[in-house]
Amino acid sequence: MKQKGLIIVLSGFSGAGKGTIMKHLLQSHPGEFNLSISATTRQKRQGEEDGRDYFFKTREEFDAMIENGELLEYATFNNNSYGTPKSYVEQLVNEGKDVLLEIEIQGALQVKKIFPEAVLLFVMPPSADALKERLLGRGTETEEVVAQRLAISTKESQYMSQYDYLVVNDELENAVENVYSIISSEHLRTARNVENINIIKEDLKKFERS
Ligand code: ADP
Ligand code: 5GP
Repeated sequence: MKQKGLIIVLSGFSGAGKGTIMKHLLQSHPGEFNLSISATTRQKRQGEEDGRDYFFKTREEFDAMIENGELLEYATFNNNSYGTPKSYVEQLVNEGKDVLLEIEIQGALQVKKIFPEAVLLFVMPPSADALKERLLGRGTETEEVVAQRLAISTKESQYMSQYDYLVVNDELENAVENVYSIISSEHLRTARNVENINIIKEDLKKFERS
């Protein structure tokens, strides 16, 4: 039975492991999910590719996307803008395909307002020290930027309870499995299966006795 696709939002402190979880989820379940690729004004990191990791934009290009209503949501994170292109998400959902959004908290809460049926997952590290180690270990930011991102995490932590699910990323494989289980269970919600319910109700009528 065809369902509308799910919008699954994954947020979490910078360095908590969102990107790593996404990568493993997509690899272990090929073809099951589609990842929304965001637009950003942030500088490309070494190893990142335009159109694969992000659509890298100038400030002017990003502002034009906002002007033209091309973004589903957008937010500023550590002096850079990030936003979700609207058309891709809408197209997938209408085709009954699940779409994953890896976005920060302000954006996630905007998505929940527009699509109350979206599923919001928050990824956290096993401890604050583990978060710092992971951010430093990734080696993609200067120590100053790492410190800025850790400070942002302390602010972000106050919004965690607005999420539907909390995923602790201690053992990576467990975290990936938990994310997959959450998505699978969400598909089974009665509210998402009204059509199935109606079909069996209709079918059962043949056994009705007057
Ligand atoms: P985010 O996307 O949340 O900013 P990343 O996925 O880039 O975080 O992960 C940050 C760093 O932590 C990376 O170097 C990654 O390899 C590492 N990492 C991710 N998950 C785990 C884990 N479960 N245990 C140890 N290290 C991890
Ligand atoms: P990074 O610079 O580490 O790639 O991302 C910084 C933060 O921006 C992360 O929390 C990431 O989830 C978030 N982010 C990435 N894309 C988007 C987006 O399209 N919208 C919003 N609101 N946040 C995003």
